[in-house]
Amino acid sequence: MPTVKTKKNKVEFKEYKRENGYIKIDEKEKKLINDFCVDYSLFIGKAKTEREFHDDAISMLKEKGFKEASYYEKAGLKLKAGDKIYYSAYGKTLIAFIIGKKPITEGMHIVGAHIDSPRIDIKQNPLYENSQIAYLDTHYYGGIKKYQWLTIPLALHGVIVRKDGSKVNIKIGEDEGDPVFCLTDLLPHLAQDQMRKTLAEGIEGENLDILIGSIPINSKDKKEKVKANILKILAEKYKIAEEDFLSSELEIVPAGKPRDLGLDRSMILAYGQDDRVCAYTGIKAMVNMSEIPQYTSCLILADKEEIGSYGATGMGSNFFENVCAETVNLCIENYNELYLKRTLANSWMLSADVNSLFDPLFPSVSEKKNTAFLNHGICVTKYTGSRGKSASSDANAEFMAQIRRIFDSAKVVWQTGELGKVDQGGGGTIAHYMARYGMQVIDCGVGLLSMHAPMEVASKLDIYMAYKAYLAFMKDNRKQ
Ligand code: MN
Ligand code: MN
Repeated sequence: MPTVKTKKNKVEFKEYKRENGYIKIDEKEKKLINDFCVDYSLFIGKAKTEREFHDDAISMLKEKGFKEASYYEKAGLKLKAGDKIYYSAYGKTLIAFIIGKKPITEGMHIVGAHIDSPRIDIKQNPLYENSQIAYLDTHYYGGIKKYQWLTIPLALHGVIVRKDGSKVNIKIGEDEGDPVFCLTDLLPHLAQDQMRKTLAEGIEGENLDILIGSIPINSKDKKEKVKANILKILAEKYKIAEEDFLSSELEIVPAGKPRDLGLDRSMILAYGQDDRVCAYTGIKAMVNMSEIPQYTSCLILADKEEIGSYGATGMGSNFFENVCAETVNLCIENYNELYLKRTLANSWMLSADVNSLFDPLFPSVSEKKNTAFLNHGICVTKYTGSRGKSASSDANAEFMAQIRRIFDSAKVVWQTGELGKVDQGGGGTIAHYMARYGMQVIDCGVGLLSMHAPMEVASKLDIYMAYKAYLAFMKDNRKQ
């Protein structure tokens, strides 16, 4: 990124140019990018839901010496610089800290991503039979274009909790030998009426029902024999009764692993890169921090972003504030609320969420000068929102200047980008939940093509630059 050259008080004339990251990096960094993305693909191919990501993230933290915060509380120990802790909310949201050298009240450097992705959830009483075919009824989760989810192989992930509290973890459709599931669509020959409908109306939400079986049970007294056979399989193989669906969280996601995309293998095609691409790069930055940071580092891996951050595991809850209070209490003597408020207000945050990339096949929705491009690095978004920046936290220019300094000095390839042209639509992230504490927050994440589709596209260079950016941000000592 070119910088302004000043000679005394004179600013030299220099044009600001946005450039492809591949012209700025050397062979050594290309190798780092590819190696990093091999691990990335493996990780997100395995951890597809918020619960799975949460659990695998904890394993990663523990390997690097992170301890559950309750360990310090129970032992009556205080935290000191370099100590590493985490808190979990209901196995779906995770917040981790590395205590910095400076007092925590001087502020933290926070990277916050979300680990839930758009998908199709199974209803509480889902199983039915129609015309001797068994289905699971669903309610989709997050903003999806429904037609994209038809006819592709789907997997079933989640938990069923029995009345006695025992839990069955479910993951069907990911191993080679596993069966998969699907949503059917109409053949073109009979789709005259359907084809005349809009894309939004062509597929009805209530009809997104998962095909789950077709063999009837050999029994005279059962009316719905196919459904009965599925119940038999559930009981025998998984020890689950139909009533147990009532206390389940089952999620339908695209089956299969991430793949390298393109003859040059420059991209990754995978499910749920919104926002596991930022969650993964964020946690990698945190566990790879080689020295004790000046400012306390904080990583948030949040649930429920895709449906508005509601619920006890969403960023709309008090969970973040509560764990910060616990952490401040573990860092200082004689806790009082003012210390917590100072810690939060003095903090800096990257709201690590994905943005849209310019798609040359759909140019009309973007304004080219201010849209992110593939391979141009991590995307910084000063404001999100829609219709006149509505609901955006709109970061301060002063903070944006700090971000420029941090990224440029760490040789991060980065760009700025808005989500679409003015009045085209819009969206939000968790940024505004954090901004209300008075901290500096800016959106900063990887750009995607086909965001919210079953398979999303990201550039390997951009993914690696996100990691580099989050690491530089967490390590920064705020000295200009
Ligand atoms: Mn997102
Ligand atoms: Mn999203």
